[in-house]
Amino acid sequence: MARGDRQADGAEDETDPDGRVVSRRELLASVGGAGAASAAAPRTTRATADASRVRVRVYPGPVPLHGWAHAGVAGMHRDWPLPFRDGFDAIETALERVREYASQHSRLEGLEVDVERGSPVRYPLSAADSPGEFVAPSLSTVLETFREQLARRDVLAELTTHVLFCWSPFNYRVGYGGTLSPNAAIGSSGDDGTDETAETADSDTARTPVDGALAVVNLGATEIWDSRAVTRNMAIHETLHTFLTPEVAAAVNDSPCDHDLGVAVQSEVDDGRRLQITPMATSYAGPDRIRVADGAARFAGRGCANHDAFSRHDGYENVDRWEYTATPTDATLEAATRYLERTLSQ
Ligand SMILES: [Zn+2]
Repeated sequence: MARGDRQADGAEDETDPDGRVVSRRELLASVGGAGAASAAAPRTTRATADASRVRVRVYPGPVPLHGWAHAGVAGMHRDWPLPFRDGFDAIETALERVREYASQHSRLEGLEVDVERGSPVRYPLSAADSPGEFVAPSLSTVLETFREQLARRDVLAELTTHVLFCWSPFNYRVGYGGTLSPNAAIGSSGDDGTDETAETADSDTARTPVDGALAVVNLGATEIWDSRAVTRNMAIHETLHTFLTPEVAAAVNDSPCDHDLGVAVQSEVDDGRRLQITPMATSYAGPDRIRVADGAARFAGRGCANHDAFSRHDGYENVDRWEYTATPTDATLEAATRYLERTLSQ
């Protein structure tokens, strides 16, 4: 089943009537899109089928020079800047938590979760359909390009999630990243994606079903506009989307929205009131508009999310400090466990 949040997370709302926001978007768009090329050649690997093993393979996209200037040159020879490394580590740790959670409850025994580095993905400008695409390729264009490169490498497999880390801080259309039906969840098959496509109302849809799940995380955006903590949180967020569906989310939390599995918890600390935000809640925990300087994620998400339906949301008013954790909630872990139980038993 497709739904609104299976689109760009944290992308600006194009219909936002706020003139200040629009002018900023136009400014950013006019600067964006540069440096979208990489000289690194892809390496071909072949995925093997194993019903008790799921894989998450993370690929670095091209990092423009201004990205290296921001992130530092460490890892430049392998296209793995520090924010990508930290995002990768966050995903690996989060998926280990899923496995541990299942194991503690004597479920999914024998499950192996491999988190691997994929070789760099190039993003050729020739993939752009229109002049606007050169500046800010849509989420579907980015995912389609990603899909085509993976297909050429022959690495697409049902039980694999492919995650593209991209550095496009000015691409408001991708926002913080996203997934699209029919390849929004691990276990997707290229043979059964047609119905999901038909249910997707938004035109920004990846139309070619393939095996496995595809996700994009815009770590350039989280790094430039927010913080390393948001980078980690968001890398987990987009990856875990591919381990969740509306059915399992609703079964655990009475809401079909993955984001509502997260929490935003207030506590009193030495320097005031702190709001801790888990992965999945990320850019949905604050008000539904762009923040400027108070610590909330800058790009408000435009997918589903209802603070009343969150596993817990203590409100964001009068909060002094926003903290983004890398620890998924038990509700998130339970939903991912249920999804894997269903998927792996088929
Ligand atoms: Zn999301």
